[in-house]
Amino acid sequence: MRILLTNDDGVAAPGLALLAEIARTLSDDVWIVAPADEQSGAGHSLTLTRPLRLRKHGERHFAVTGTPTDAVMMALGELMTEARPDLILSGINRGANLAEDVTYSGTVSAAMEGALAGIPAIALSQAYARQGMGGTVPFDAARDWAGRVLAPLIGMAMAPGTLVNVNFPACEASAVKGIRVCRQGRRDYGRAEVVKRTDPRGFSYYWFGLGPARETPGHDTDLEAIAADYIAVTPLQLDLTDERSMASLRERFASQAGVV
Ligand code: MN
Repeated sequence: MRILLTNDDGVAAPGLALLAEIARTLSDDVWIVAPADEQSGAGHSLTLTRPLRLRKHGERHFAVTGTPTDAVMMALGELMTEARPDLILSGINRGANLAEDVTYSGTVSAAMEGALAGIPAIALSQAYARQGMGGTVPFDAARDWAGRVLAPLIGMAMAPGTLVNVNFPACEASAVKGIRVCRQGRRDYGRAEVVKRTDPRGFSYYWFGLGPARETPGHDTDLEAIAADYIAVTPLQLDLTDERSMASLRERFASQAGVV
């Protein structure tokens, strides 16, 4: 089994090293193609306005000076053209990718790119307890449980245009209660805080922070699972069409000339 690993925290991130450790227990054909620098929050963006560089760090180990999507495209279109990967694993992200996070997340978007290419893809993220933990975020829950989470997913036939999003809770591995297959949740809006500071030359600059979520997690959601110290496993689809609105929207346009 040929496995491609990528992430959005960058090629040097501890979560990627851990993912490589885990992947090597599953296969001896593990490739790493990851962004050279951190790309958290890059979403599914694709670099079109500047050239990309490819840096070889070792055998089957590369960095791309772009986004997570760029990294997957580079892997599939340039580095792994002889044989495509059978599986793409993205992460393990430093921080949760729950609810609406998935639309901002480079980690999840790299898996989306895999799904678009028709390759089974899994995004993995480790939640942490509070802001400001820097490089001290523990990956213990992910380290201990990743094997058990991945085992049923590997070799599973994923429907076209779908991927699996896995989040590990912010607790010690021994405190993890189990694994839940659950829905994508949604937080109340307003979590982002704009932090305004002054630079050494007296000019203002701004930095987005993510404050604590203010929500009552919906039942059976990823948010609820993580809050209760369960691992959340959520199937996601790239087709964002809202089926519920199709009929009413058609009705609103029905009377207009030229609308079929
Ligand atoms: Mn990240």
